[in-house]
Amino acid sequence: MKTIAIVGGSVAGVRSAEALRGAGFDGRLVLVGDDVHRPYDRPPLSKAFLEGGADEDTLGLLDADEEADLALEMRLGATATRLDAAGGRVVLADGTDVAADGVVIATGGRARRLPGTADVEGVHALRTLDDARALRRALREGSPRVVIVGAGFIGAEVASTCRAMGLEVTVLDGLPLPLAPVLGERIARGCVDLHAAHGTELLPSTAVAGLATVPAGEGRRVVGVELGDGSTVKADVVVVGIGITPNTEWLEGSGLRLENGVCTDAGMVTDLPNVVAVGDVARAAGRRHEHWTSAGEQATVAASNLLGGATGTTVRPSGYVWSEQYGRMLQLAGHPSAHDDVEIVDGAPDEGRFVARYTDGAGTTTGVFAMGNPRLFGRLRRTELPRAAS
Ligand SMILES: Cc1cc2nc3c(=O)[nH]c(=O)nc-3n(C[C@H](O)[C@H](O)[C@H](O)COP(=O)(O)OP(=O)(O)OC[C@H]3O[C@@H](n4cnc5c(N)ncnc54)[C@H](O)[C@@H]3O)c2cc1C
Repeated sequence: MKTIAIVGGSVAGVRSAEALRGAGFDGRLVLVGDDVHRPYDRPPLSKAFLEGGADEDTLGLLDADEEADLALEMRLGATATRLDAAGGRVVLADGTDVAADGVVIATGGRARRLPGTADVEGVHALRTLDDARALRRALREGSPRVVIVGAGFIGAEVASTCRAMGLEVTVLDGLPLPLAPVLGERIARGCVDLHAAHGTELLPSTAVAGLATVPAGEGRRVVGVELGDGSTVKADVVVVGIGITPNTEWLEGSGLRLENGVCTDAGMVTDLPNVVAVGDVARAAGRRHEHWTSAGEQATVAASNLLGGATGTTVRPSGYVWSEQYGRMLQLAGHPSAHDDVEIVDGAPDEGRFVARYTDGAGTTTGVFAMGNPRLFGRLRRTELPRAAS
């Protein structure tokens, strides 16, 4: 292979560049990214960066030396609009193209929004650095009343950050017990209780009917969130954290299978052996993993298979994900089902510090979860989930 184009300039794209060089690829490596900023890390955007404890210069995924070592040709602010697989090129919005005999698709996802709210002042999503800059600014304008739609990890992190800034926060979620479908009821309860313990109001089983707005300049500004029961929660700032949509539109007509992501086998190889997909956009063996760690795990395997010309190795996802809320580290590894048995092996959920082990019907450990105890989490993860941790 002479040239490999990596499309997407975030963690999956950067880890792919590192993995390709690490595996000995010494041809031309072009990274196409539609974000104008140099590759940056997203996890701090809802945590230290939002609160003001980390500056933009701490977010970079590559420093100048690392970039030089990778001999990476970066095309930033460049949007891929088409993959011409037969012609061996990635077509860009500016009419140019990148000829490549191998392609890594790492276009991730974009934040889902509430319909019809794109132009409403005061309504925020949080996916990009520009989103985080805008939200950070808004949280500092007076003492805004914040309403967060969605009590997943990102919504919970934003709530935690807002509380640390002394702001009043309400979190709305449609589920009776947020996170329960993923973590099971007992662990989800432990996570959700953190909100009340830190002064965040959580309204579960709550449907959002629309936004209350007032005219502002040429447009509209949010003043509240209207709920399904007819009531309204007042808001100066609304943050919508209801998941992502994979960025696959540019691949329509490419011949690749697109079903809620780019379909790959367990080795991240698409239906075309010279095209792999990694990160949040990849639907590997029927499942997308929207976690920072899985992007790196997948990149290593994808690089090896791309250079090998076929699937020679497959990903063993660790399922590792972390979150930081109200001064605590939350960590999960493995692939527990919400119906697995849960044993608290240390601490107690109502103390806000505990470690739990999930086991399936056969008594096999399927996952480990910890709140506020990274040391024991690390030990259990190594001893109880050795395959996944490798
Ligand atoms: C605020 C926030 C906090 C998070 N915190 C955590 C955490 O604590 N723990 C954790 O495990 N995970 C966390 N995550 C998730 C983690 O950051 C993602 O799993 C990770 O960013 C996925 O990386 P990716 O490269 O696959 O996709 P993305 O990060 O979505 O990057 C895809 C890139 O491709 C670009 N792109 C899209 N379409 C095109 C196109 N047509 N042409 C060119 N470029 C294109 C996009 O602009 C983007 O730069 C967090 C995410 C966010 C947003």
